[in-house]
Amino acid sequence: MLEEVARHLYRIEVPLPRHPMKSTNSYAVVAQPRNLVIDTATRTPEGLACLLNRLAELDIDLSRTDFFITHYHSDHFGLIPELIGHGIRVFMSGTEIDRLRSGPFWEALIAYAQSWGYSAEDSQNLDHAFRGTYRFDPSLGLETTEVREGDTLSYDGYSFSCVLTPGHTPGHMCLHEPEHGLLVCGDHLLPNVVPFIQVWSDAGNPLKDHFDSLARTVALQPKQVLPGHGRVFRNAPARVEQITRWHQKRAEKILAAVSKEPMTPVKAAARIRSKTTHVIEDLFVRAFHRFIEVAETMAYLRYLERDNLIQQSVVSGTLIFGAK
Ligand SMILES: [Zn+2]
Repeated sequence: MLEEVARHLYRIEVPLPRHPMKSTNSYAVVAQPRNLVIDTATRTPEGLACLLNRLAELDIDLSRTDFFITHYHSDHFGLIPELIGHGIRVFMSGTEIDRLRSGPFWEALIAYAQSWGYSAEDSQNLDHAFRGTYRFDPSLGLETTEVREGDTLSYDGYSFSCVLTPGHTPGHMCLHEPEHGLLVCGDHLLPNVVPFIQVWSDAGNPLKDHFDSLARTVALQPKQVLPGHGRVFRNAPARVEQITRWHQKRAEKILAAVSKEPMTPVKAAARIRSKTTHVIEDLFVRAFHRFIEVAETMAYLRYLERDNLIQQSVVSGTLIFGAK
């Protein structure tokens, strides 16, 4: 699907086979002397064919094209390795470039997850799940250019300002075009689903970062939000309010549960699990989903702990959260 969102700025819906999000939005600005494409999709033959076909329809010559990647998640970055040979240029925030360069970041993450009360079986499957999702080999020699907060990328009358929006990932970055009132926002703000917020290590407070980033987004007063998944939408403040309330409700549920009885992150995750009849057959995908669920719960527990509402202790290597 190809939709002209604003003059010479197109939304390309790229399929994500066997992925719950179904598709990722790439945005293309057709310009001289160079075009700009924002985000790609997971590395699959279907996604690659779709993206190349749509770019060809727009007469986009890849050797004259810059790519901006909002964040290092496989469903946004994934197709980049396929395009390296075409002479593209890739812009990302410094934090996301570091994550990409540091090799398999999930190894440290899985090691940390051992303290969450995770089952041995799920732990074993996790590494496979991550490896299957992130198939990028840094030795491919990808040249990336770091962009910083406030940097400007100009294409065909558009002047995009880089806005750091940590939360969904530590170095997530949006592009704000003040004159046209556009905000290209990757997975920072989505119309149909709540972007997941997870911990990455024993440091940081990603949910607090996300709330701060959402407040910054509202202050920018975008007229149109161009998300990484789903349709372009208006009224960012209303969506931010919905998402904030949703997180606060879940945080309150977890606070009530651990205040009553101390528990591991895995146990706390079960308290906010939504009822579903959907059964995930694939062993690795299931392990990945379970991991995400607990990683998200950890973001709430961290947020509550940093707010001094609960406390964390370690019993035989496992984290236990309880009343303060
Ligand atoms: Zn993402």
